[in-house]
Amino acid sequence: MDSHTVLYGVIGDPIRHSKSPIMMNRAFRETGINGIYTAFHITGDRLGDFVAGVRAMGIRGVNVTIPHKLEIMPLLDEIDESAQAIGAVNTIVNTDGHLTGYNTDGLGYVRSLKEEAKSDLAGANVLIIGAGGATRGILYALAREGVGSITISNRTVARAEELADAFRALVPSIRAIGQEELQEACGLHDIIINTTSLGMYPNVEATPIDSAWLKPDTVASDLIYNPLTTRFLAEAEERGCRIHGGLGMFIYQGAYAFEYWTGRPAPVAAMRETVLEALLAK
Ligand code: NAP
Repeated sequence: MDSHTVLYGVIGDPIRHSKSPIMMNRAFRETGINGIYTAFHITGDRLGDFVAGVRAMGIRGVNVTIPHKLEIMPLLDEIDESAQAIGAVNTIVNTDGHLTGYNTDGLGYVRSLKEEAKSDLAGANVLIIGAGGATRGILYALAREGVGSITISNRTVARAEELADAFRALVPSIRAIGQEELQEACGLHDIIINTTSLGMYPNVEATPIDSAWLKPDTVASDLIYNPLTTRFLAEAEERGCRIHGGLGMFIYQGAYAFEYWTGRPAPVAAMRETVLEALLAK
């Protein structure tokens, strides 16, 4: 670090569990960029102060995580089309005091799904279990890939219906179903994505479906990356499904942010190595 070092960071509440600082600092080291990335614990009542600080200190880039992805939006100067459609911001780029909000979560997810499990998503029939904040970004990114249909199932069916209504203009065949229709739906889709928190550490025994409902050759995908292989994925693999975990989404959402900030390709392999080491060291 010297007097030219450029500042970056992530904000959230809580934030001390975040693996973003080790991942991004590895990316700066690997590319020889004179940047430093740290975690800021920002509570909701200090969000405005934080944004003023970003402008005052010339912090070049910020990642935004729970619970600030929505509340940060009116504090920025410009919202990119992706974040507008998704209704949430996870990345801020500061260009000489002009703050632009982007959303790289869904794009990161789809890039990882295509690289690790299914290279062509055009025409695919996708079942999404869950309708929380992360689902919106995924719907946006899947729509851009020209998927054939999307079915959303959620414990609270009204939230699934809300999402289906919000994205119908982008995916005309999108629909919401209740949990009683989930068993039948599992046999009818090419890709099944768990976007619920069921199975996340420490509740690793939880799973969103009975694995007997899965047919072989389906792609089973989970947003969770702690554990790296959830019970849902382990059981799906036993049933002959191709599996895809959430680590790639985390890496690529960071990679896109790095590229927006620096204009340089992100060193994805090194970023993955660092995060994996940290997760396995636990
Ligand atoms: P969220 O907004 O809180 O949504 C949680 C979802 O899980 C809702 O659909 C909720 O259903 C469902 N759910 C929770 N407990 C349930 C239960 N006991 N039974 C049935 N459904 C249940 O969370 P989110 O931000 O969308 O995140 C969802 C998951 O994605 C988390 O595990 C998170 O770690 C992961 N994620 C991963 C990445 C990555 O980079 N890999 C990025 C973002 C998120 P209701 O609507 O009925 O409450």
